[in-house]
Amino acid sequence: MTTTLIDGIGSLYTGDPEREEIADAALVVEDGLVAWTGHATDAPDADERVDVQGRAVIPGFVDSHAHLVFAGDRTAEFQARMSGQPYTGGGIRTTVAATRQASDAELATRALGLVNEMLAQGTTTVEIKSGYGLSVADERRSLEIATGLTDETTFLGAHVVPADLDADSYVRLVAGEMLEACAPYAKWVDAFCERGAFDGDQTREILAAGLKAGLGARVHANQLGEGPGVRIACELGAASADHCTHLTPGDVEALASSDTVATLLPGAEFSTRSPYPDARRLIDAGVTVALATDCNPGSSFTSSMAFCVALAVREMGMTPVEAVRAATYGGARALRRTDVGWLRRGARADLVVLDAPSYVHLAYRPGVPLVHQVFHGGLLL
Ligand SMILES: [Zn+2]
Repeated sequence: MTTTLIDGIGSLYTGDPEREEIADAALVVEDGLVAWTGHATDAPDADERVDVQGRAVIPGFVDSHAHLVFAGDRTAEFQARMSGQPYTGGGIRTTVAATRQASDAELATRALGLVNEMLAQGTTTVEIKSGYGLSVADERRSLEIATGLTDETTFLGAHVVPADLDADSYVRLVAGEMLEACAPYAKWVDAFCERGAFDGDQTREILAAGLKAGLGARVHANQLGEGPGVRIACELGAASADHCTHLTPGDVEALASSDTVATLLPGAEFSTRSPYPDARRLIDAGVTVALATDCNPGSSFTSSMAFCVALAVREMGMTPVEAVRAATYGGARALRRTDVGWLRRGARADLVVLDAPSYVHLAYRPGVPLVHQVFHGGLLL
């Protein structure tokens, strides 16, 4: 059993609400877990010592919303949007066509590349959804590929109705045969509850079937307009309602009085040139907020949690500490995880050493690569 003392931490953001920030700190790793945190002067002895020379340390980011199994490219669609065309969600079908044509190896290589891109930027836990297959075989293989990369896999057969089926028969397929084929590879079930995708009744039917099959629920809700998504998420005890851009006062109240996390995805608003969600309103109402990338080829092709933190601070009314908390602790809550997202005794030793004296630099120095080192399960990458 080897212990490692990470010493010389100028500022340690633990993510642990009981002791969130420690100046002049140290941290001990034992067997891949955090064994101790505190002031450097009180640090116990350890077998090895790493001196980070005054840098800041934060927990590894928890990106609780990403679509990484896909093929193809939608640069042209982005270009058109930036020339004034609106985002409707219809471009998903372009990615579906490319994904169906790709080999398993192509899809797996591409998804692994994105996971590694995330890891290099400090993301040590990522959720991966299906949703670009939309057939029984293609959804199942997307999830099989995802299970090779993360424990947090989500069945999103209800991403959009494929071009060759009517909505009702597709909902029956998703809640029936497709769910049965996908459930062994999925921890979560998700649905895109939005005008042009799935309505309230369809969303409810799919999520209820997923819950019955033993999956946890999460919902793409209220991204493009107000709708029933957030209330359904709260009613069904979903771990997270994602997007939450257009909320009524009733939606905010429902979130505040539930265990459902509001996961905000500012990369999507950035990339679709849309109004940002009002994080301030949610936090002030007592809602637990998470930040995630929504990494996908259509509406948010970023893998950078630091970018999302910067957007949240600049555009969504969050303070730097609230944004970093949402990107770590909040993401873990959105996945119902207590072993990641914070650096407290017993948690996985996933931590990021920043080339900065404080986590505030993530927002203060936007676009600058600040990740100096990443430890994943106590191992230095
Ligand atoms: Zn999404």
